[in-house]
Amino acid sequence: MFTLNAQYTKKDLYRILKVPTEKQRGNWNTGYNRYNDNFYLFCNIDVPGRTGHDYNNRWEGNNLVWYGKGRSTTSQKTIKDLISNNFNVYIFTRKNSDNPFTFEGKGIALNYKESSSPVEITWSLRMELHNRPETIPEEIPVEDKILWEGNSQKIRVNKYERNPQARKDCVEHYGYLCQVCKFDFKKEYGEIGREFIHVHHLTPISGIKKGYIIDPIKDLRPVCPNCHAIIHKRNPCFTIAEVLLLLNNATGF
Ligand SMILES: [Zn+2]
Ligand SMILES: [Zn+2]
Repeated sequence: MFTLNAQYTKKDLYRILKVPTEKQRGNWNTGYNRYNDNFYLFCNIDVPGRTGHDYNNRWEGNNLVWYGKGRSTTSQKTIKDLISNNFNVYIFTRKNSDNPFTFEGKGIALNYKESSSPVEITWSLRMELHNRPETIPEEIPVEDKILWEGNSQKIRVNKYERNPQARKDCVEHYGYLCQVCKFDFKKEYGEIGREFIHVHHLTPISGIKKGYIIDPIKDLRPVCPNCHAIIHKRNPCFTIAEVLLLLNNATGF
C-alpha cells in the first residue's frame, strides 16, 4: 500500500486510504491515529512536534524509540493495542516539520517501558520480513530453478511442500494450525505469526510415480517447525499419528 522510504503528506494518505473529508485531520494530527483497524503513526525526529514537545524520538540502529502523547500510559486501550502487535502499525517519520513524512514500514513493538508517561515504545523497522513458504531446519535454501533441475528425492519432496498453490489449498482446508501439537502462531505471537506454518508432504518418496499430481488435502498437512523437524528425524518420515504418540507419551527421564 505504501512504498518504503517514499514521502507522503497527510493529503496523500487521505487519498490513498480514501478517508472521507469529515474524518480527515482531527486524530490524524495528534501523532497516532487508528483508521479501519490499522494504526498510522507520525513521528517527528529531532524536531518538536505540533504541541511543541520534543520527546526525544530517535533511531537506535534500525529501531525507532518513540514516545506517545503527553499523558499516555500503557494502561490506555490505544497503547495496549499498539503494543499488542495485533494490528498493522504504519510508521511515518520526518526530520523537519515542513517536510512530508517518510514511510518507514510496518513497526513491530519490540519493547516498551511499563511505567513511563509518556509511553516509550521501541519499534522494530527497516528489516525484511520473509513471506515465503518456510524452510525446514535441516535443509539449505536453494533457488526454485535448482529445485526443478535437481533430481534427488529430498529436493523433489521439498518442491511439493513449497508449491504455493498446493500450500494455499492445504491451509485453506486445515487452517494455520499445527496438525500435531495444535500450535497456532497467530494466537501465540500475534499479528507477526499470521499465516506462518510449514506444510509437510505425507506421501512417501517411494510412492511418488511419474506424473504424480499432488492432492493438497490428502497429501499435505500444516505442521509447526518443531513437529516438522521431528517428522523428518526418521527416513522414511514419521507419520503425524506417530509424532502425536511421541508427543503424548514423552516423559523425559
Ligand atoms: Zn507442532
Ligand atoms: Zn516435511
